[in-house]
Amino acid sequence: MHVVVLGAGILGVSSAWYLRQEGHEVTVVERQPGAALETSFANGSQLSVGHVEPWASLETLPQLWKWGFSESAPVLFRPRADLAQWQWGARFFLECWPARNRHNLRQLLNLGLYSRAAQQALRAEVGIEFQAIDRGILNLYATPAEWARGSRAAAEITRLGYPRHRITREEALRIEPALGGTRAPWIGATYTPGDGSGDAHQWTQALAEKCQALGVVFHFNQSVLGLAEEAGRITGVRLSGRETLLGADAVVAALGSYTPLLLRPHGIRMPVYPVKGYSATVPLLRPEAAPQVSITDDAWKMVFSRLGDTLRIAGTAEFTGYDTRLNEARCNALIERTRLLFPEAADYGQPTFWAGLRPATPSNRPLIGRTRIPNLFLNTGHGTLGWTTGCGSGKALAAIVSGRRPEVDFSFSGL
Ligand SMILES: Cc1cc2nc3c(=O)[nH]c(=O)nc-3n(C[C@H](O)[C@H](O)[C@H](O)COP(=O)(O)OP(=O)(O)OC[C@H]3O[C@@H](n4cnc5c(N)ncnc54)[C@H](O)[C@@H]3O)c2cc1C
Repeated sequence: MHVVVLGAGILGVSSAWYLRQEGHEVTVVERQPGAALETSFANGSQLSVGHVEPWASLETLPQLWKWGFSESAPVLFRPRADLAQWQWGARFFLECWPARNRHNLRQLLNLGLYSRAAQQALRAEVGIEFQAIDRGILNLYATPAEWARGSRAAAEITRLGYPRHRITREEALRIEPALGGTRAPWIGATYTPGDGSGDAHQWTQALAEKCQALGVVFHFNQSVLGLAEEAGRITGVRLSGRETLLGADAVVAALGSYTPLLLRPHGIRMPVYPVKGYSATVPLLRPEAAPQVSITDDAWKMVFSRLGDTLRIAGTAEFTGYDTRLNEARCNALIERTRLLFPEAADYGQPTFWAGLRPATPSNRPLIGRTRIPNLFLNTGHGTLGWTTGCGSGKALAAIVSGRRPEVDFSFSGL
């Protein structure tokens, strides 16, 4: 079967890899000159199976409301005359219901564990270098209330089978001595030893090259303009700069935040909305003062991961449509907070800023699987966790396209 994968981000390339393993002929179409140049380019780098708490929860609502409209706060909502934005918001409130929240957390943990196993197997098989650090993730808390909330999440995730421990400040300092120099107040932590970090862009580019070596064809610099539908099936893909259709037996839409725009004319509506996030990458000055263990600063919803001789800082969530421009206040907030946490670590005068659009669903659960059109499949909506869940989602999608149910307890679309 000839499968055309739309998009060469983490999800598109993972899907292409596993589809090829299933024996399909695979073509990938991407508007950028290479793989992983949009949202998968400079993310927070965390492989964070133990941090899958959905945003939508009754506990986070008051905080979201407090932050919602301040230029430099971790979460910023810019109301727009955009029905999709308001519909997404309404569904987000529904997902805050405790039973929904627990369900979403369990589902994300299942997918995360499945993905972790898939990525470990792939690492052993193909040996990709991606600045991986397998030393766990430390989550820092600044107030007793935050620490108690984080500890409850840790206990639940541990109960479900993936260890995440509540630890004291002293224990955290033993795990990551670079925290000894911090000037920001924090009182306690949780620690997830099985988590880690690595460069998603480097991984995805290398995996795309491995795909090419196995015969997967990549059409870079070509935009998908639309899909041709005949008698209830997709027959091909319309591409920029090409007069004829690219024929397909099956199509996988992995266009991140842009997936809903392509599928809407075919009557497929999905609750995926772009949530802008920022990162800053700074060169290390004193490596011993920079963390090796990946860190999450719960108070500012920022993450810190060491990538070679740089430190990657990422965070913030801005609901502002498809605008990817950098906002100075939000960029500065990343640097100022890092300067407090790791004052001596890096050259903060030389940041490289970046912004990307998380393809977010109200539940945080991605959309993987079938649509109402039998030969059109989805792999999108991975929001804050696409790097963590990327490999497993690609593997699961390939199984579904091949007519099998994936071996993971997750509610796949259309199954
Ligand atoms: C600031 C930030 C920090 C993050 N940190 C983490 C983290 O620490 N851990 C984690 O697990 N996740 C993290 N994420 C989330 C993760 O990066 C995303 O979930 C993931 O990259 C989404 O991948 P994707 O393949 O769905 O989308 P993308 O990477 O955006 O890929 C979609 C591709 O489709 C292409 N495309 C779109 N439209 C068209 C078209 N019409 N024609 C042709 N091509 C098209 C785009 O060019 C793009 O390459 C973070 C995200 C952000 C923004």
